[in-house]
Amino acid sequence: MQKSILIVGGGTAGWLSAAIIAAHHKNRPDGQLKISLVEAADVPTVGVGEGTWPTLRNTIRSIGIDEKTLFKTCFAGFKQGAKFVNWASNDDFYYHPFTVPLGYGNIDLAPYLDDVASFAKESNYQEAVCQAGLAPRAPTEGEYQGICNYAYHLDAGALGDLLKNYCRDELGVEHIIGTVRDVQLGEDGGIAGLSLENDGKAFELCADLFVDCTGFRSLLLGKALGVKYKSVDDILFNDTALALRVPYENENDPIACHTIAEGQNAGWIWDIGLTNRRGVGHVFASDYLSEDEAMHNLQNYVGRSIADLDVNKISFSAGHREVGWKKNCVAVGLATGFVEPLEATAIMLVEVVARYVAENLFSDEAAMEVVSKRFNQQMDYRWQRIVDFLKLHYMLTKREEPYWKAHTNPDTIPETLQEDLAIWQNRGPIKSDFDGVAELFPAASYQYVLYGMGFKPNFSEQSYLYDQQQQANRIIEKNRTVTQQLLRDLPPHRNYINHWLSA
Ligand SMILES: Cc1cc2nc3c(=O)[nH]c(=O)nc-3n(C[C@H](O)[C@H](O)[C@H](O)COP(=O)(O)OP(=O)(O)OC[C@H]3O[C@@H](n4cnc5c(N)ncnc54)[C@H](O)[C@@H]3O)c2cc1C
Repeated sequence: MQKSILIVGGGTAGWLSAAIIAAHHKNRPDGQLKISLVEAADVPTVGVGEGTWPTLRNTIRSIGIDEKTLFKTCFAGFKQGAKFVNWASNDDFYYHPFTVPLGYGNIDLAPYLDDVASFAKESNYQEAVCQAGLAPRAPTEGEYQGICNYAYHLDAGALGDLLKNYCRDELGVEHIIGTVRDVQLGEDGGIAGLSLENDGKAFELCADLFVDCTGFRSLLLGKALGVKYKSVDDILFNDTALALRVPYENENDPIACHTIAEGQNAGWIWDIGLTNRRGVGHVFASDYLSEDEAMHNLQNYVGRSIADLDVNKISFSAGHREVGWKKNCVAVGLATGFVEPLEATAIMLVEVVARYVAENLFSDEAAMEVVSKRFNQQMDYRWQRIVDFLKLHYMLTKREEPYWKAHTNPDTIPETLQEDLAIWQNRGPIKSDFDGVAELFPAASYQYVLYGMGFKPNFSEQSYLYDQQQQANRIIEKNRTVTQQLLRDLPPHRNYINHWLSA
């Protein structure tokens, strides 16, 4: 019997889900699984979402798209991590690179450093590579390879178009244009069908599984099935973003090979380098900053008048649906939740959810119930971990503005994060703190942020555990040697992309 999936929404979440599910089932015999995507012609996509995780490399590769095509069509650049400027104080920076520290899993270098905030630099060559604006791979390396771990910066609209064409032409996804006007529920409380309209013509669609990718509207899971929204805006205060597309002054200007996240008086500004422009945006808390003040911050950051640039204003409430899967409907992307894009977790979550759906599509109803129950348990945990990790970036600040002070108020810090901090008062984050199946950030990420913010556990309490000074020195020395070698061997980011794409 044929099983049918209807994906509703054609933003990044919709097309990426379609591609992941269809690629996973690409050898399906005719008539066994039908995958369709319907999108409204008259409802625009959110139009942002340019930073990704290294997971996207494998995802794009397994979908079947070659990396050059991705770079050419999406004006992509390499992303090797994030540089957090002015987070601990008004005059500092630290990196959260994608490559794990040398010695990771065997030795934590932090106890052996005089200045714990230098952890990323002393334990890992990628900070120096980013500071120098170099590509993560040597010209001799092939597609999807790199001595430094990397993700992409890309044009979100162009990625949607690339995936759309690939889904239709190569993966047998049916593409329908139509605006959902009504959702019919069945006797079991699931979705029985949709009433749609296009060009004045009404039509109906039904499916076994509905994938809600309708963005913030959450038309199926939120609106029709009534799954409530769990706000976390008492923990993460930001609720507004102003996004700009900033042209390069000269077409050969260097492209940053990491996301820059610069702390402001009541929020932060992202700066993402694509090959044809920069994506710059200010995320802020409207309780602490007016739109005019945010525009002023943006203008200062960009360093010239921004009056001629279009501003995309997006309001959001940090949080997520209480469950992501109910009956025969699973939500992906903004339809299931959103917290600020500080660690670019949204597209990564789309990958995680779509892969789970792809790997767990059975016609057996009892099995599907287990699948959705486990999914909801895992997602609940993932959201909690994401919220905790983002809050970690704020709660250790020494900045004095009211917005930053409020972030350090224990009442705004989740209990789970306070518990983690109680442990990390005595030792740094270790791999086994994060070894569950639903874990997203490895201990390395926590180390980079925790130490980068200047937090030093009380290592001296059990100093006998930290008697590997010689090994630590060897690793630090090795890192310095590799760094020098990479600074010699790796090409500048833009040069590499130009050369590679023209070959
Ligand atoms: C300020 C900001 C910055 C961000 N930065 C990042 C980042 O750097 N990295 C990252 O991973 N993520 C980021 N995100 C999140 C990212 O943009 C989204 O996760 C991603 O774009 C997916 O959006 P979506 O497809 O869920 O929703 P949308 O793009 O809103 O798409 C919704 C789709 O649903 C369709 N639709 C709506 N109503 C109907 C209807 N009635 N009938 C039929 N179709 C309908 C629309 O036509 C559209 O196709 C950011 C988000 C914001 C707000």
